[in-house]
Formats: sequence, C-alpha cells, structure tokens
Amino acid sequence: MQNLLDFEPAAMTAWFAEHGEKPFRARQVLRWIYKGGESDFDAMSDLAISLREKLKLIACIQSPKVMREETASDGTRKWLLDVGTGNAVETVFIPEEGRGTLCVSTQAGCALDCAFCSTGKQGFNRNLSTAEIIGQVWWANRELGKDADGNWPVTNVVLMGMGEPLLNFDNTVNALRLMLDDNAYGLSRRRVTVSTSGVVPAMDRLRDECPVALAISLHAPNDALRNVLVPINQKYPLQELMAACQRYLEKAPRDFVTFEYVMLAGVNDSVQHARELIELVRDVPCKFNLIPFNPFPQAPYQRSDMPTVLRFRDVLMQAGIVTTIRKVRGDDIAAACGQLAGQVQDKTKRTHRLMEVSQ
Ligand code: SAH
Ligand code: SF4
Repeated sequence: MQNLLDFEPAAMTAWFAEHGEKPFRARQVLRWIYKGGESDFDAMSDLAISLREKLKLIACIQSPKVMREETASDGTRKWLLDVGTGNAVETVFIPEEGRGTLCVSTQAGCALDCAFCSTGKQGFNRNLSTAEIIGQVWWANRELGKDADGNWPVTNVVLMGMGEPLLNFDNTVNALRLMLDDNAYGLSRRRVTVSTSGVVPAMDRLRDECPVALAISLHAPNDALRNVLVPINQKYPLQELMAACQRYLEKAPRDFVTFEYVMLAGVNDSVQHARELIELVRDVPCKFNLIPFNPFPQAPYQRSDMPTVLRFRDVLMQAGIVTTIRKVRGDDIAAACGQLAGQVQDKTKRTHRLMEVSQ
C-alpha cells in the first residue's frame, strides 16, 4: 500500500503518471487530502469511480497513530504520536490571537546531544518519513477542525519539535513543499520556519532548494561555550555559521534570521555575554528570541531569573537588535521547547522513560 502522504507534489504527479493517470488527477487528490482533510477515496467525488476503486486497492492516506493527547490550561494541545518500535514523537499546537502555530517533530530522538535538551538526551533513533512529518500537520488540522470561514487552524508551522530537521533533509523538504504548495496547504514561506542547531552545508541546500524562514539555535556568543552547549559547533564553528546565515539571507523569504537563545542561569546570561553577541552578529540582519530554559529531570541547568533575562534583552535592544522573550506555553503538559519526550528507544535499544509525558 502506498501512503499518499509520503509524496510531495511532483512525486504525486509522477506516481499518478506511472499508473496511467494525468497530472490533474494528482492535483485533485492533493486537494482532497490537504485542503479537504479527506482520507476516504470514496468521498473524492470528482474522481472517476474506476480511479477511486483503483486507489483503494493500492494506496492509503495515513498519518502516525496518536497514542495520547493533552490540553493545557492555556489551550496548548499536545499529541504523542506512535512512530513504531517503542518510539514516540510529539506535536504541539499553540493557539494565539489570529494565528495557530504547530510545532512539528522531524526525528525520533536527536543525535546532536545539546547539553540542555531532553530530546538530545534520548539519543538518535530514526528519521521520520515525509508522511510522518506532514502527517502531523494533517492530523492537527483535522482534529482541530476548520473555522467558520473554512480555514484550517494551523496558519504557521515551526520545525522546533523533536529532532534536527536539516539532518533529515529530504523528508523535511518534501514536507515543506506540501506545506507551501497551493494544492496542499498553501502557506506562505514566511509562515514556515525551520529551526537548526547550525548544520552549515544543509543550510546552503535549504536556501537553494526550498527557502523558508530560518531560526538558528545559537545559545552562546563564543566557540568555547557553544562547543559545550551545542556540540555540533565543534564541526561548524560560529564564524562559519554566521557566514552561512548571510548566504541564506540572499534567498530567504524574510530579511532576517531569528537567533534562539536559551537563558541558562550563570552560564550564558551575563551582560558580558550579551555584548559579545552583539559583536558576533554584527554583519547578520537578525532578531533574537530569548527562551526561558525548560527544565527536565536531571537537567544540569537552571532557568535564568526574569531580571537577568530583561537586562540581557535591554543590552541587545540598545544595540538596535529586536529581541523578544518567549512566553512559556503549555507548561502544565510539558509541551515547551526541549521538553518533548515520549517513550523512546535510544540507539542501544534500551527502552527508557526520561520523563513523564504528563506532569
Ligand atoms: N534541532 C533543532 C530544532 C528542535 S529544538 C534546533 O536545535 O534548533 C527547538 C528549540 O528548542 C531549539 O532552539 C532548542 O535549542 C530549544 N531547546 C532545546 N531544549 C530546550 C530546553 N530545555 N529549554 C528551552 N529550549 C530548549
Ligand atoms: Fe537536537 Fe535541537 Fe535538541 Fe540540539 S536542541 S539535541 S539539535 S533537538
């Protein structure tokens, strides 16, 4: 059975051609799946009955199975998805005035082992398929339902769930193409954000193949500290990362990159660190998003206190850098960045539970 969620638009057309069907049939099916949220071929009323019967025999439309669902007191929703063999990933929907942001996972676990991230602590298990990535958007939209004007609730997507999207490049780009395609979700490139810890060669590929808004997990103003917090920095140090950001901006849909900076008490949150940052990013048009550290069991760090965060922000703002402080959402269901953890198997195949999904 071919899962049609695994096809980006061009691949869908090619698959239909292989089965002797014209390109407009692929477009019709895309529209049913993504614009209509349909999974039942019988309901696709503008397809010939013979085609519907054929599709029923050889294809399916299947997103990952939902193992658990939670709703936080602030309306944030979280789904724990079964991706097989003891692995789970999470998807989080954050409703805000006038928009709905879905935080999507791209890998089960992550190989990069950032010091402050619970996903990293689980080790890497496997890449998610295209269907598993776009299936998160498809599932959330269907589950939450269209509004009174017939619009889907997910208006923005951020690839900030579990995993490093640029290390699952092909499937991530396939899913991005479906988010952007007019026959699928038709989101603008500015409303889709890839977050990366700084896989420099893949940033260049993304720029060339499918530029969307870019967020960089910076977290430190110098190589010595970033080597510890974000170990991939040892491979792609800060000067290379800054140069890659500049190259990215040549083709990006936004004229700035967003630097994410998790505030770790006594580690990276001093005025001196802020001043160093200003120097570092001098030639990169950017905004900063300061993220309160989200604790998880056995985390070796603590959240910076608010006066420290505000002082840090003020130093950046005085240098003319727009700086926001991320609101903590879904606190009561552990839905925040870096807290996403299900029951996963790490590469040594031990099954361990790093944190309770509901706290
Ligand atoms: N791998 C990608 C995207 C997923 S992580 C990346 O690293 O960018 C999404 C964001 O959550 C990143 O900015 C990451 O640094 C941040 N994050 C990870 N653990 C966190 C924690 N415990 N508290 C706050 N933010 C965290
Ligand atoms: Fe992986 Fe991102 Fe977590 Fe680092 S912060 S371990 S890159 S998911």
